Amino acid sequence: MFHVSGFMNNDVCIFCKIIKHEIPTDFIYEDERVVAFPDIKPSAPIHYLIVPKEHIQSIMYLKNNHQEIISKMIFTAKMLAEKLGLSGYKLIFNVGREGGQIIDHLHLHLLGGWDKKN
Ligand code: AMP
Ligand code: ZN
Repeated sequence: MFHVSGFMNNDVCIFCKIIKHEIPTDFIYEDERVVAFPDIKPSAPIHYLIVPKEHIQSIMYLKNNHQEIISKMIFTAKMLAEKLGLSGYKLIFNVGREGGQIIDHLHLHLLGGWDKKN
């Protein structure tokens, strides 16, 4: 059982279910702290989600002891971008409903793969 930060119980959280391998996905990366898998509705030719195994609701719910996991998420995105051969990309956190967040489990969007001339 992972620690829960935020109102949602991780038993009903779709990303917690993916992390626990209860919902199948094509993991591109997994270690003891984070996973990465493709976005089901990609907004770019390459669109992955980097997700901490700990259920944290969003950036708004971060506590001081989460500094390491945020850093880990960003370094994971950088490592994946290098592996994927991306020469440029976007990293996005949507925060809260007003910020476009629909899944209440912290995640970092890695977007790229556009035509290099654009
Ligand atoms: P956000 O708007 O930042 O909360 O983004 C949530 C993202 O999760 C959206 O881009 C969805 O397409 C994506 N998503 C929702 N359900 C799944 C799923 N089962 N597997 C992969 N991605 C998902
Ligand atoms: Zn969760």
